[in-house]
Amino acid sequence: VDTSYRRIAEVDDKVSAFLILDEARARAAAKQLDDAIATDKSMLFGLPIGIKDNIVTKDLKTTCASKILDGFEPIYDATVMHKLDDAQAITIGKLNMDEFAMGSSNETSAFGVTKNPWNTAYVPGGSSGGSAAAVAAGEVLCSLGSDTGGSIRQPASYCGVVGLKPTYGRVSRFGLIAFASSLDQIGPLTRTVADNAHVLEVISGHCTADATSANVPVPAFSEALTGDVRGLRIAVPAEYMGEGVDDAVKQSVRDALHVLEGLGAIVEEVSLPHSKYALATYYLIASSEASSNLARFDGVRYGYRTENAEDLLDMYLKTRAEGFGEEVKRRLMLGTFALSTGFYDAYYKKAQQVRALIKQDFDEVFSRFDVIIGPTTPTPAFRIGEKIDDPLTMYANDLLTIPVNLAGVPAISVPCGFQAGLPLGLQIIGKHFDEETIYRVADAYE
Ligand code: GLN
Repeated sequence: VDTSYRRIAEVDDKVSAFLILDEARARAAAKQLDDAIATDKSMLFGLPIGIKDNIVTKDLKTTCASKILDGFEPIYDATVMHKLDDAQAITIGKLNMDEFAMGSSNETSAFGVTKNPWNTAYVPGGSSGGSAAAVAAGEVLCSLGSDTGGSIRQPASYCGVVGLKPTYGRVSRFGLIAFASSLDQIGPLTRTVADNAHVLEVISGHCTADATSANVPVPAFSEALTGDVRGLRIAVPAEYMGEGVDDAVKQSVRDALHVLEGLGAIVEEVSLPHSKYALATYYLIASSEASSNLARFDGVRYGYRTENAEDLLDMYLKTRAEGFGEEVKRRLMLGTFALSTGFYDAYYKKAQQVRALIKQDFDEVFSRFDVIIGPTTPTPAFRIGEKIDDPLTMYANDLLTIPVNLAGVPAISVPCGFQAGLPLGLQIIGKHFDEETIYRVADAYE
């Protein structure tokens, strides 16, 4: 905890990863562990951890990087927070993100942009940009992020750290402020694959407070790190190595595949033919679900309320107009339109049908292969300000991460080289509830 706060004092004015720090609280928790040192140590004993600011923390401000939640102090902890407490991890603070997790660069935060620690003129990625930057800058050993369309893997890739999106249903989302409920998952960002496996083991498990939580056993993920990938079958989708993906990115993936082949794995090219529809499908489904989930922010129950309302309706309208940022409003309008009478069949329902086809592509490939490998993102990190005025270019960042969320399968991003001083990421995608094989491959490569 000392080291963490010392490092934060050194670098966070340059990186701006943290939104909320409560040093007294972290020190009190550390002191309690020191005093109880004779008792059994749990898996994450004394580990300093940062939490993305869309995960609710009792008596510790939670804002989703939105003005509309400014000043909100939750009265309960998310399930993952209870699990971290039981494992004796220590919460250092809350991490910056894109507002309500909508974005790929951290630039939609209402409280300023987090910088990429490798080069502060560049974005750290998003939406869990604070979570990735804090680990990359050495401010914490581990952080939690959330991934709806790539928000753990993409910033992990841009910041050169390890980030895993678990299988949908693996980790409880009770206390994760919902963006798109059929896609959201909480997952760990760490420096190493082994650290990641330990943290996932702690935060996983069935939770009766989350109706989508799966009642499946939690393996000891760290025991999967055998280094042995002999005979393992790796699929490489042609669509992930084609147009729109930088040459340097493709080359770094080819180099990684050679390493794995050298260790005895078998590599073959496959096709995920419907992945070209993933972006359009995702932005319809995610925005529709967001328009419903964010209806609760009305100025009555949480956070910010406008000061100059004439009546109740005016209060709702002004609170939302003043409280939400541009990107959130864009999504809410798109989602409300897509769900409205007369359009539902043409948009939301159609998107769900295409989603089923995308999932079938994965099922087909996984009937013959153990993992799918490709890049995490088409390019390395881009400059702050470069894409913020062009939503469609910004959305293209998610090309290679979104199909995974639509299919509900797990995937990791691990560092795989550099391009012009900026990290690149290798994405390893696994079968439903087979994070063990992902970790085994990632660790063998690492
Ligand atoms: N960048 C994507 C979006 O803006 C993904 C966000 C996420 O995974 N939370 O929706």
